[in-house]
Amino acid sequence: MQNVIPRRKKTIREIDVRGKRVLVRADFNVPLDEDGAIAEDTRIRASLPTIRYLCERDARVILCSHLGRPQGRVVERLRLTLVANRLSALLGWPVVALRDCVGPEVESAVAEMSGGDIVLLENLRFHPEEKKDEPAFAEKLASLAEIYVNDAFGASHRVHASVVGVPEYLPAVAGLLLEREIGTFTRILEDPERPFAAVIGGAKVSDKLEVLENIISRVNTLIIGGGMAATFLASQGYGTGASHVETDRLDAVREISAKATKRGVRLLLPRDVVVAERLETGIPTRVVPATEIPDGRVIADIGPGAADDFSHELASSRTVVWNGPMGVFEIPEFAEGTRRVAAVLANLRGTTVIGGGSTTDAVERFGLADQMTHVSTGGGAALTMLSGKPLPGVMALDDAGTP
Ligand code: ADP
Ligand code: MG
Repeated sequence: MQNVIPRRKKTIREIDVRGKRVLVRADFNVPLDEDGAIAEDTRIRASLPTIRYLCERDARVILCSHLGRPQGRVVERLRLTLVANRLSALLGWPVVALRDCVGPEVESAVAEMSGGDIVLLENLRFHPEEKKDEPAFAEKLASLAEIYVNDAFGASHRVHASVVGVPEYLPAVAGLLLEREIGTFTRILEDPERPFAAVIGGAKVSDKLEVLENIISRVNTLIIGGGMAATFLASQGYGTGASHVETDRLDAVREISAKATKRGVRLLLPRDVVVAERLETGIPTRVVPATEIPDGRVIADIGPGAADDFSHELASSRTVVWNGPMGVFEIPEFAEGTRRVAAVLANLRGTTVIGGGSTTDAVERFGLADQMTHVSTGGGAALTMLSGKPLPGVMALDDAGTP
């Protein structure tokens, strides 16, 4: 079986950071509300252990991150000043926000830092060179520090300058958050406590094909929900009303089902579903057997019978990984299936790992995030790991055991 990370990577605990200038690539890409305020600060909180670790050792901490999609130019509302303020409040320690991430002003600010000081560089994506992974830009960032720490799990699937470029110029190690994320996914994929179940949902099967193909050879149970259940049902010859079926994926889905049978993996599709004419709030809904979806109706959520089946199956699992909501949970009428799965996992006496932007969002909305073993801070990066593919940002780090 393919290994998720071929070699263990060095972490900040294996390098002498005392008094050093340390450039930390963090993931402060937090959601903002309409007023431009921080809507949710999980990612900032998740970065605290590494920052505290460095400050306690008198390192000079130079933080950097991207925020949003400024398309390579300065966008006032995407400045990181708000993040610096929130971080400062959480740490109880000053965090100085700089007006750029490279250049003479940044260099002199960094030169004046003392041990334990923290600065936050300006949004990396204000420079187009960041996304293009331009070596000269990476080298300028690297020149600010003596050690590079990647703690940005959520950006580690990107081939960007601050993720893969900078580590070419500096000793490069994993931060505590990155270590925890990678360790959790590696453990459940390579050596899970069994029975091991995966719950996969979301809108489209095409978004999750690589995850399904990788996970099917690792799990004991695969549970399918969300809009993608329509393509699974169609692949077995059932009508799916007006639900979106990805006809070009029917063969791929049949192959996954065949693999499940061959390997003795229990594959659960929803027995019943909530359907509606459209995916809108206030619209009349009906619960129907999954094999009898009326014409003109779309699958909006798993039904209560399916939620019972899934709950029963999950309750006896020792490890569960969940990616993709069971229904259009953003609309209250279609949130129940997702809520039921979240509730079972919250009460499970085993390892529960939540990955994916929407899935994490759902679990947080239900107030159940604290009751999971691990709620990933990365969407795309978590999917990459679940697909069994290496993360470029992790590959770029120094191997453990090297001087
Ligand atoms: P994640 O971000 O956790 O990886 P996805 O992006 O794959 O999850 O899927 C999330 C989206 O899937 C949500 O916006 C949700 O509304 C949508 N979704 C779930 N069930 C359905 C459905 N039955 N029909 C259409 N969209 C759905
Ligand atoms: Mg998503």
